[in-house]
Amino acid sequence: MEKVYLIDLDGTMYRGTQIIESAKLFLDWCLEKGKSFLFLTNNSCRTPQQAADHMLRMGYRGIRPEHFYTSAMAAADTVAKRSAKRRAWYIGEEGMREALVKKGFILDSNHPDFLFVGLNRQAGYPQYSEAIRLVLNGAQLIGTNNDRILLSETGANVGNGSVVALFEYCTSVSAMKIGKPYAPILEGALQFLQKQAKDAVMIGDNLETDILCGIRGGVETVLVTTGVHRKEDIERLQIFPDHVVSGLDELIG
Ligand SMILES: [Mg+2]
Repeated sequence: MEKVYLIDLDGTMYRGTQIIESAKLFLDWCLEKGKSFLFLTNNSCRTPQQAADHMLRMGYRGIRPEHFYTSAMAAADTVAKRSAKRRAWYIGEEGMREALVKKGFILDSNHPDFLFVGLNRQAGYPQYSEAIRLVLNGAQLIGTNNDRILLSETGANVGNGSVVALFEYCTSVSAMKIGKPYAPILEGALQFLQKQAKDAVMIGDNLETDILCGIRGGVETVLVTTGVHRKEDIERLQIFPDHVVSGLDELIG
């Protein structure tokens, strides 16, 4: 049976707003040959439509919103599966808000059952303080992803995981973990695709998130060295992908 590719975005398909040419060759091949793929991203900021537009602007073709599964969607799916409660509030951008509304959550900033923490690059002390009070009043804390750092053209930025850690420290509760390397995002994606772990291949540039997630979930893994990790990092981190490529065009068969 043909496997479905679960493909990371930043460092794998592009760097910020810069397309990775070898990844474009691979994607064009997937589209031409009718290979199935799903972009699996820890980034909760963009909606699937915004994520598609972002890639089309940098030169990709044939990409549609249904090609994306984000940590915000995974967070909404996971919580909806585990609980019948539906009142939610969030820290985040449009991708977080849309994922909650689409899943049937009722947005309530006063008495939510859940507080979802995704990245909002405009949020600061007042929003965090208001949100922390919701958790102290009993809302369950959900973190879309635990990335320490978010890389951009200008360098390292505070990642969503660092904001989630702030919430955990402040409230003395642990957040539910969703994004790569944790299982919920992979389970959610496989359910979204109606596939099993043995039918998927995880592709990404980060050993500690993409590759570890695949290994833990029993999914075949491919490290591509166009982003954060290099071949030398494999031994250092003791995380062993099934395959290593220097460009995704090497996967074209
Ligand atoms: Mg990446």
